[in-house]
This record gives sequence, C-alpha cells and structure tokens, in this order.
Amino acid sequence: MRVGFIGLGHLGRHLAASVLRAGFPLVVHDLRPDAAAELIAAGATWASSPRETASLSETVITCLPSPAAVAAVVAGENGLLSGLGRGATWIDMSTNDRAEVQRLAALAADRGIACLEAPVTGGVHKAAVREITVLVGGEQEVYERHLSLLQAMGSPVLYMGPLGHASIIKVITNMLAFVHLVAAGEALMLAKRGGLDLAQAYAAIAASSGNSFVHETESQLVLNGSYNIGFTMDLACKDLDLAHRLGREFGVPLELAGLVEQIFIRARGQYGGSAWSTMVVKLLEDALGTDLRAPGFPETLNP
Ligand code: NAD
Repeated sequence: MRVGFIGLGHLGRHLAASVLRAGFPLVVHDLRPDAAAELIAAGATWASSPRETASLSETVITCLPSPAAVAAVVAGENGLLSGLGRGATWIDMSTNDRAEVQRLAALAADRGIACLEAPVTGGVHKAAVREITVLVGGEQEVYERHLSLLQAMGSPVLYMGPLGHASIIKVITNMLAFVHLVAAGEALMLAKRGGLDLAQAYAAIAASSGNSFVHETESQLVLNGSYNIGFTMDLACKDLDLAHRLGREFGVPLELAGLVEQIFIRARGQYGGSAWSTMVVKLLEDALGTDLRAPGFPETLNP
C-alpha cells in the first residue's frame, strides 16, 4: 500500500517515520518543505501539494493543526480529494471537529473514496516509540483493511465505532488531560508553599489516589522548567473549544472544562499560541512569584 502523509509537525513527523520504518512506500507533504528533510533522508518521496501526494498514494493520512487546515488540504484547490482515485482512502489523524470530519467524509464518499478518523493520544514521546494510543472511527471493513498501517504507528489501536465516535472520545480525553494539568499545577504549588521538597511531593502524588498520567508526565516537565511537551497552547485552546461544542450539542454542562478553558485562554494570551501547553502552570507560578523547579527531572520525555 502506497501511503501519503500530510502534516509533518511535532506529532506527524513521528507517525510518518513509523509508517516508513514499517516498510510502506511513503510520500510526504507539508507547507514547510524543511519539515520533511529527515523523512526524505530516510527514504520518503516529497510531493509539492496535497493533490500530488494523493495522486502518488492509495491511502493518504492528514495530521494538521486545525479543522480549517484539514478542510483546505482535503477539499481546497489542489486538495487531496482531487488527486485520489476511486477505491482510495483518506485517514485523518488530526484532533478534529466531528461535524467537519463527517462533512469531508461525505464529499470523499461522493468520489468513491473511503474515510477513517484516527486521532491519537499519549503525547509525542509515545508517538516516537510507536506506543501512542490510536482511536479509530469509520466503517469496520475500512478499519480492518488499514489495521496494519494503523498498528505501524501506535498501540493500542482501539476501534470506537462509526465515523465521529473517535473524534468525540479524543476530545474527551484531552479535556480530561487539561483539567488534570491545571489541578497538578495547583497541587504542586500547595506542596511548595507548604514547605515540602518538590521531588518528594512529586513521588508521593505519583504513588497516591490523586495520581494521573498527566502528573507522571507533564509535572516532570514543570519541575524541570522546560515545559516541553511538544503540544502548543493553540492546540489546547482548539481542543477545549471542540469539547464545548460537543457539550452544547449534547446538552452536557462542562463546568470544570469551562473554567479550565478560560485559564488556557489567559495562558495563551500571556505566553503566545506556540508556547507549550504545559506553561499553563506557569500562570500560577508568575501570579504567586513562586517557581516549581526541582532538580533531577528531565527536560523532555523523548526517548
Ligand atoms: P504542529 O502545528 O506541530 O504541526 C502541524 C503541521 O501541519 C506543521 O508542520 C504545518 O506546517 C503543517 N500544515 C499546516 N497547514 C498545512 C497545510 N495547509 N498544508 C500542509 N501542511 C500544513 O501540530 P502537531 O502537534 O503535529 O499536531 C497535529 C494534530 O495532531 C493536531 O490536530 C493536534 O491537535 C493533534 N495532536 C497532537 C499531539 C501532540 O502531542 N503534538 C497529540 C495528539 C494529537
């Protein structure tokens, strides 16, 4: 199966490298040609547009920063739908708006092109070692046909049901992660102001009923002071907005997530959209004039 990959950013470059390592012939494209340099050196072929990527592929994967970018790459001028043949497949691995994925999938279906959504969760350090969780929505037959490709990029690969279900669960998991991150920051600050050693506090929380995946990963980057999670404020605000769209649509009050969204909007204003999302904790550090540094924690989680 010839695979195209569009969107070689912090996440996409790792997923694309895994596809190549698994032996799939790979064509790559990004707005920034330099983003493809390592992949090309490893054997991938460069394409100059989404359309050209598609014309050289049977399955094209997108991993893009916003619903608008996905729409442009898929259905815009020189978009991938204009280059894919009947019987081909488009897989969106972006964290996307459910309604937008469904709209674009209907356009694809009109042209005889199948669609899967396969957003991922776990962070770039997990993507780098093929251990990122892949959440898949779409027709089961299309899912099964692409299972080896999906397994090449991550584990576990979880089939969530029809198209749209994976978008919903992905947004839910990020909403939880952002709530956990703000809570972990407040917890560490209480420990620091209470006079505790932060390394001891970190270890105690990690061994407690208050532990979380976010504490085990992002708290370490807060304590190091790098905040380098490989995921930006812009993406966090995009995903919290997606959560609130679902909340409104399904009539579910998201009171905690509402508060957390406002905190992230403040953090993006303060530190910029391309700052790491983990810097949301720095808002509290700056407000109180108290940092959360402790020795012995890694600068990144990358292997
Ligand atoms: P990123 O901003 O680092 O990368 C996006 C890439 O897309 C960039 O290289 C950019 O140049 C390219 N791009 C943007 N518009 C384009 C266009 N019109 N045509 C071609 N290329 C275009 O983002 P990321 O962190 O890699 O995230 C990508 C997606 O994956 C997002 O939807 C994000 O929410 C999701 N995600 C990210 C992570 C993570 O840890 N970074 C984890 C899970 C999910």
